[in-house]
Amino acid sequence: MTAPILKQNRHPLQKLLCAIALSVWAATAAHAAPLVEPTLRLKADAGGNVGRVALTLDACGGQTDTRILSALVENRIPATIFVTGIWLKRNAAAVEIMRAHPDLFELENHGGHHIPAVDTPQKIYGIRSAGSPEAVRAEVESGAAALARTGEPAPKWFRGATAEYSPSAIAMIRKLGFKIAGFSINGDGGSLLGAKETARRIAAAKDGDVIIAHINQPTHAAGEGVVQGLLALKAKGLTFVRLDDADGVGNDGTTD
Ligand SMILES: [Zn+2]
Repeated sequence: MTAPILKQNRHPLQKLLCAIALSVWAATAAHAAPLVEPTLRLKADAGGNVGRVALTLDACGGQTDTRILSALVENRIPATIFVTGIWLKRNAAAVEIMRAHPDLFELENHGGHHIPAVDTPQKIYGIRSAGSPEAVRAEVESGAAALARTGEPAPKWFRGATAEYSPSAIAMIRKLGFKIAGFSINGDGGSLLGAKETARRIAAAKDGDVIIAHINQPTHAAGEGVVQGLLALKAKGLTFVRLDDADGVGNDGTTD
């Protein structure tokens, strides 16, 4: 209880040292957990074919891009869809279509509320992080619970909002039993790229690549590019696989 008296009597130099100590602490806290954006690749195709790629599509929130969903069904292109609890609630019709084609669609965990799996408080691309280990755990488990309520098999893969993680969050998610889905080709730049650039990036995929794009932005030009890029890959003879059908190898401790 003597602290207030000490504070009053504090020498100016002591105050300065305290201020320096505080700013060093703040700088350390800000840099305590450099975030990682893990990659994921498939093991090389031993079949001697043109190659295999995995298409992963995030359904963060919002609506369904039916241009992409229809193209996948019509052209029989398998995909792994990372869905949030929020998206599942608002897109029952799309979920029904995906569940009607279990040979094409594998649904995996993109979190309950689309909150970045980063266990220190910060903003990533303007989105507030989970901010604590408990909140990361809640995001992962609520995403899995939302998928379970649709009757889908239990998810095995997790991809956090923004696809950036603190290393300690990665370790925790692995302990919860999930592999973490990075990627090797950023197909649509968060669905913000134009159709032409999106198509170019996706069409450039080679054997072993894991593509990320979005299926929840029906008004964005990028969606048109996703379809064009996929059709180009199909025309080249590449095979599409889901994450459960292939051996995905990630860095930063995400799959091993
Ligand atoms: Zn997302």
